[in-house]
Amino acid sequence: MDKGKNFIEQIIDEDLSSGFDSSKLQFRFPPEPNGFLHIGHVKAIVLNFELAKKYKAKINLRFDDTNPENEDQVYIDAIKEDISWLGYKWDKECYASDYFDTLHDWAVDLIKKNKAYIDSQTSSEIASQKGTPTEPGKESPFRNRPIEESLDLFSKMKKGDHEPGKHVLRAKISMTSSNMLMRDPVIYRVVDSHHPRTKDKWKVYPMYDWTHGESDYIEQVSHSLCTLEFKPHRDLYDWFLDLVVDPEKTRPKQREFARLNLSHTITSKRKLLSLVEKSFVSGWDDPRMPTISGLRRRGYTPEALKKFVTAAGVAKRENIIEMSLLEFCAREDLNKKCNRLMVVQAPLKITILNYPEDQVEELPLVNNPENDDSGQRMVTFSKQVYIERTDFLEDPPKKYFRLSPGNEVRLKGAYIIKAEKAIKDSNGNIIEIMCTYDPKSKSGSGSAESQRKVKGTLHWVSCASNTPVEIREYDRLFEHPSPGDFSVEDLSKAINKDSITVFHGFGEKELSKSKVSESFQFQRKGYYIKDIDSTPEKHIFNKTVSLRDNWKNK
Ligand code: ATP
Ligand code: MG
Repeated sequence: MDKGKNFIEQIIDEDLSSGFDSSKLQFRFPPEPNGFLHIGHVKAIVLNFELAKKYKAKINLRFDDTNPENEDQVYIDAIKEDISWLGYKWDKECYASDYFDTLHDWAVDLIKKNKAYIDSQTSSEIASQKGTPTEPGKESPFRNRPIEESLDLFSKMKKGDHEPGKHVLRAKISMTSSNMLMRDPVIYRVVDSHHPRTKDKWKVYPMYDWTHGESDYIEQVSHSLCTLEFKPHRDLYDWFLDLVVDPEKTRPKQREFARLNLSHTITSKRKLLSLVEKSFVSGWDDPRMPTISGLRRRGYTPEALKKFVTAAGVAKRENIIEMSLLEFCAREDLNKKCNRLMVVQAPLKITILNYPEDQVEELPLVNNPENDDSGQRMVTFSKQVYIERTDFLEDPPKKYFRLSPGNEVRLKGAYIIKAEKAIKDSNGNIIEIMCTYDPKSKSGSGSAESQRKVKGTLHWVSCASNTPVEIREYDRLFEHPSPGDFSVEDLSKAINKDSITVFHGFGEKELSKSKVSESFQFQRKGYYIKDIDSTPEKHIFNKTVSLRDNWKNK
């Protein structure tokens, strides 16, 4: 056995070596369109689509659209956009609702075969008879109602003659099974709601377990991969398949892998929806959201996300992955791809006393030292420049290598300057620093002074020529390391109330040419992406990730 393969690949290899025809391999990704996809789904997407690639097999995108109350075309569109953005193409776009007729007819057959019945109890009565894992359940008083009566009631339910909740169709399996899911599960219920695709055609809707396996079979999915919480459903999946499978055809096989759990975040569409509805975030694509659209807007690339889920691995047991691994993958990818630029986020003005009043210089700076083809750009230098407010201290501690009175630093790609005096306003706040510069120290000029070493190098932006920018810096959305443990009602208790800080600063003039969704490394700060809220006059950047891991210090 190939140790480099994950356990799912090993299962497939075993099936192939015991005679399964490789041309019949078929996968699917089956999202319910009741929200936007999140980082957990990336794992399932990458697993299924990469398997299809590796085994040259087909893969369907199947919308599991059986709950019209919660589902929406908006979600269908967003899911398709997100999977495409990840770089994957599906063979067929399928909908469980396309199979509603077949599923209904099979359900009628079940009743005729005395393997299903209409239960006319309330949902709480049914729940009270379920038993516990150690005690058997009780049979419904309707369990043995005549087949004809069940058929008649089911047909009336379908026509809309019955209110939701009055009757349900249950499979007749066993109320004493040790697997609680096998205790006569509900397979159809009445729902009075408009469906995005079948509109008002249906009044009865199939439940997940009945729909999922049968849809896999209809599509001839060979390996139906789902997350571990579905393991107990496997008995039911197989029981339902036994009722319909033609031995000449492929019988789908359900196998389970561990969900992706990420620290400090939630991966539940229901809970993510509550963040949107309660306006804790600006929408599903808020850059703090763990949704694919949020991560994209934050500046994560498809390559970084794929690298992350691959590094997290395909496991048989639940585990929790640290957020720092996700950020590491983003940094690695962006480091190679992004051009460098200088941006001052919280500006402090520097005036260079001995620099000629009207002089400006255009200095060449390398775009990306990691990429030889990236070339260079010209950056304007002038008598007045901005540096970061946090890069000056009037009274510095020992080993402070940034700017302080009497201390020298190099302005990156330009000159060495020395702070002479801090100017303050009437409240004692520093508003400007008077400096002098060493005219012979120009970077790249070849002079002995240009080689002179000083301990600190600062990024800077000319006051004479720049691009004003808005910078949105994000902190973790959840203070608590496992917000998934909180209920929807309590989720606000886990939230970091201070997860966004907005700065107004200045960037190199080059930035005025930047395009929406373009990413950069702002030197000494991190990776940033131009936000979709930008306009030709307003350049807004989201911070994707800092240059170094700072989770440990938080
Ligand atoms: P949610 O609780 O977020 O709604 P779900 O499982 O109900 O998740 P689906 O739309 O049904 O969402 O999921 C589609 C597929 O993605 C399923 O096969 C599911 O097992 C898988 N999936 C969902 N969440 C994760 C996760 N955190 N890690 C890996 N796979 C996941
Ligand atoms: Mg689901």
